[in-house]
Amino acid sequence: MVDSPALTRRLLAWYDRSRRPLPWRSSRDPYLIWVSEVMLQQTTVLAVIPYYQRFIARFPTIEALAGAPIEEVLSVWSGLGYYRRARMLWQGARQVQALRGGLPRTAADLQLLPGIGPYTAAAIASIAFDEPVAVVDGNVIRVLTRLERIDGDPAVRKIRRQIEATAARLVDPQRPGDSNQALMELGALICTPRAPQCSSCPWQSDCTARRHDQAEMYPQKAPRPALTKIERVALWIESDKDQRFLLCRIPDRQVNAGLWEFPAADRSDLSVRIGPVVATVKHTITRYRISVTLQSAELEQPTRVPDDCRWVSIGEAQLLGLTSATRKLLSQLGRATQSDLSELPAQVADRVDPSRVRQQTES
Ligand code: SF4
Repeated sequence: MVDSPALTRRLLAWYDRSRRPLPWRSSRDPYLIWVSEVMLQQTTVLAVIPYYQRFIARFPTIEALAGAPIEEVLSVWSGLGYYRRARMLWQGARQVQALRGGLPRTAADLQLLPGIGPYTAAAIASIAFDEPVAVVDGNVIRVLTRLERIDGDPAVRKIRRQIEATAARLVDPQRPGDSNQALMELGALICTPRAPQCSSCPWQSDCTARRHDQAEMYPQKAPRPALTKIERVALWIESDKDQRFLLCRIPDRQVNAGLWEFPAADRSDLSVRIGPVVATVKHTITRYRISVTLQSAELEQPTRVPDDCRWVSIGEAQLLGLTSATRKLLSQLGRATQSDLSELPAQVADRVDPSRVRQQTES
């Protein structure tokens, strides 16, 4: 077994020299740490930074987030993906505000809030409140399975427990937040999935995978399931009089619920004449490879627009939360650039009266 205190000391010394000056590291405000940790789930640091800054500028406190309508939260989150995270964050903020006691201070209590699992709870509790609990994410799993050559799939409970026990031994009781962040930083910067820079690693003399020249063999994983292909046809329906186009809100309890997209071609409540293909996109979500073909279409007269659909201008579309595929399709159509649609500029956000947005888009 490794000498944990010595390893932790070397790890912290390396972290103090090498850590990146990330925006959420300049504060120990538990709300800001919460937002950053939720955004960092399934998204890279570089991708998160501009979204984090925009989100915090718009919702600087739990109260600001709890007081905003979910449509506005989704709009500011738009482009970051995995929108369930934004909904859970918002629900959690409302719950905290209702309790009037601020965020809970322990990992166990934090997990009572929606969307906060063991990882996020441990990150907030250790970084903001100095609770000596270990954080285990993908980076930590990679580093520790290499350090101790832990065989087996980390998704298997017994292996996961072994990793958690190793992580717990490495938490520094005086600087738990820093030792957790240091371990994640080591995985992000040095102990990378491919070609780890072992010669720059503070643990190079202790690491058993390095000693056996087997670093890239860890972590061991079960084979991934094959991607499932999904093909969809959506409709580009433009109004003759003002060049608005039709978008529909995805119903609750479906993937991307609450976001807006082009109407599906197989809707039975839209009577249309279908024209040529105007754009196609492919994108991958988890294990689904989705291909969307957008065809132009004209409404048959008279056709009532369904209640969940709205005519919108490009400006109004920017104020809605759009699916990634919808943003890509609009970009292909030359209606907007990807960056136009992935961002809700602060100056626009500042002008947005959420109740007005709802009236414009839902009336
Ligand atoms: Fe990872 Fe190499 Fe460091 Fe081992 S020595 S923890 S494999 S970077």
